[in-house]
Amino acid sequence: MPRDYILALDQGTTSSRAILFNHSGELVAVAQQEFQQHFPRDGWVEHDATEIWNSQRSVALEVLQSHGITAADIAAIGITNQRETTVLWDRQTGAPLHPAIVWQDRRTAKFCHELKEAGHAPEIQEKTGLRIDPYFSGTKLNWLLDNVPDARTRAERGELAFGTIDSWILWNLSGGKAHATDVTNASRTLLFNIQEGCWDEDILRLLNIPESLLPTAQPSSSLFGECEIEGLRGLPIAGMAGDQQAALFGQNCIDASKAKNTYGTGCFLLRPTENGIVHSQHNLLTTLTCNTDNTLGYAIEGSVFTGGAVIQWLRDGLGIIKRSSDSEALATSVKDNGGVYLVPAFTGLGAPHWDPHARGTLCGITRGTSAAHITRAALESIAFQSADLLHAINEDYISSIDELRVDGGAANNNFLMQFQADLMQVPVVRPQVTETTALGAAYLAGLSTGFWKDVTEMASHWKTDRIFEPKISVDAAAAQQSRWKKALERSKDWATN
Ligand code: ADP
Repeated sequence: MPRDYILALDQGTTSSRAILFNHSGELVAVAQQEFQQHFPRDGWVEHDATEIWNSQRSVALEVLQSHGITAADIAAIGITNQRETTVLWDRQTGAPLHPAIVWQDRRTAKFCHELKEAGHAPEIQEKTGLRIDPYFSGTKLNWLLDNVPDARTRAERGELAFGTIDSWILWNLSGGKAHATDVTNASRTLLFNIQEGCWDEDILRLLNIPESLLPTAQPSSSLFGECEIEGLRGLPIAGMAGDQQAALFGQNCIDASKAKNTYGTGCFLLRPTENGIVHSQHNLLTTLTCNTDNTLGYAIEGSVFTGGAVIQWLRDGLGIIKRSSDSEALATSVKDNGGVYLVPAFTGLGAPHWDPHARGTLCGITRGTSAAHITRAALESIAFQSADLLHAINEDYISSIDELRVDGGAANNNFLMQFQADLMQVPVVRPQVTETTALGAAYLAGLSTGFWKDVTEMASHWKTDRIFEPKISVDAAAAQQSRWKKALERSKDWATN
């Protein structure tokens, strides 16, 4: 009996999804379930790891049922996940010792500050490609070991396991037999040496983390374990990657000629580098890309905190539009932005500016400014921020890209995509399948099990929906950028605490 599908498990920050892909890389069925967000204190964000697992298992079974198939029709499972979120569990019972600490959680800010004050930032950046920041898993794990009663002693006795969400899902799928992660997820922990491809002993000592807690780090496309749970029993878990790297793979961006940008709540822009590690001089991150063997590949990554979320603010905060997609018609009902610039630094500015004290700013308002101008400025702000990222990446890498591949909810906005192409002066290419994160995970699982022959076969499935070519001159793009920069300066260093 031929097995016709790959099952991708996409464990995101607000929901768990399961998606079936066929041999042509087409999406054939989806099931999705949201789960609860917990905010126990200012700056703290937690998930119930058991709820995450239950929701993920339940959508996996549901998608098979809804499509009228069984595990016998599935060739392999691929996992992609919210990155950095940290789980600590008991190896014996499989029970988490504490709620998962989510990537957004800032509880370790003080510890990170101390590490920086003690001068560890250059060494950490050199080895991990990351900045010392509460965002990454390492200091979250240190917090758990210090704050959960007996955790450190039990960890030292080898009774506990640490994992990011990929490892947690794998552990549960395999009935507690597999404790592994892939290199892309490992590269977001602050504990992984991306030059050597292994956990870094010096950093583990610095953060006081026993090595016995750690999962085995494997290539993203490799056999991680076998399912032991009812309904999926026997299926190989054959691909795993963090969401942004999975999307990069799903977009077939495998060399430095292309980059991808995901336009969701925030934006994540990644560009592979070709000759080893490029350490950013512009406050961007260096991260590992998906691999199919022990060779390590790298990308430069930058993120925008407020991307599509600025459109949600127009909808929910200002009530200017009813649905996010209405922003396109409203923005194009005026001939230009009327001189209005909106800097949506609602929670500060991310890369390459890194100003936590910046706040949202609306510049250039006149008596003639309308809701349409503000909407246009809001959409333009997403493109301006992404262009700032690409310019920083290009400066680090010294050369430009041939095209930008896009995905995420706001990539459906044609006005935004055209403006992005104009500003960046590169073609912006939107694929037919915009579920590139799940597709990337499916590809990883399909490649290691022979469902797809090689990367060339995989690339042949990638189909363009639309290409947006730059329509304005280089000078006109530069003029736009310079007005934006002025607005940006006015938003910086505003909040006092
Ligand atoms: P996430 O995965 O971060 O939840 P999605 O990829 O689902 O995000 O994208 C949702 C975001 O995209 C929301 O912030 C929404 O406001 C924005 N968005 C969705 N459709 C459009 C559109 N047509 N135009 C502009 N923004 C949009």
